[in-house]
Amino acid sequence: MNFEELNLSENTLNAVRNKGFEKPTDIQTKVIPLFLNGEKNIVAQARTGSGKTASFALPLIELINEGEGIKAIILTPTRELAIQVADEINSLKGNKNLKIVKVYGGTPIQPQIKYLKNANIVVGTPGRVLDHINRGTLNLKDVEYFILDEADEMLNMGFIDDVEKILNACNKNRRILLFSATMPVEILNLAKKYMNDYEFVRA
Ligand code: AMP
Repeated sequence: MNFEELNLSENTLNAVRNKGFEKPTDIQTKVIPLFLNGEKNIVAQARTGSGKTASFALPLIELINEGEGIKAIILTPTRELAIQVADEINSLKGNKNLKIVKVYGGTPIQPQIKYLKNANIVVGTPGRVLDHINRGTLNLKDVEYFILDEADEMLNMGFIDDVEKILNACNKNRRILLFSATMPVEILNLAKKYMNDYEFVRA
């Protein structure tokens, strides 16, 4: 399979080429069509290094337009991963003027509050995201895509309650994409609790 067969726009294909990606990885050939052309929730078993970030970043770039407010939230267990994910999206967005805003703890909150006003995609760690929701500086009522990255690490780090609170603050019609390297029972239970129906993929 080639990127050209994945129904991506010329803008995104150019960005993929500029990044030096030659062929989609396994997880990308599975997740991109499901996310881009379907309406279902997705549970994906995928490791770091599998190309999982681009598997959700490329469809998000296609599906979201500037000026529409916050359409996606991506939760990561660590600030390092939040930075990597935001960098990956920025490097793949080509000419599209999407605003990706990082929100994590251990750094002043005021600049984040300012950037959130123009955000289209928010990438953050659960504690600080919840802090913004509680302060009223982050409103998730228009969110269409909720992405949980490294869900098993979230569980290990004790973030699952926060994740649930954030999920409950999102629009009820949001789609959920859950990525995890392993699928412990707590993660499968979370998937069942919040998704009536989902596609399971592994790569
Ligand atoms: P990830 O698993 O998302 O952390 O990605 C691991 C690394 O693989 C990152 O540096 C990506 O930029 C890179 N990558 C993602 N997709 C591809 C691809 N199709 N071809 C080559 N490298 C890729």
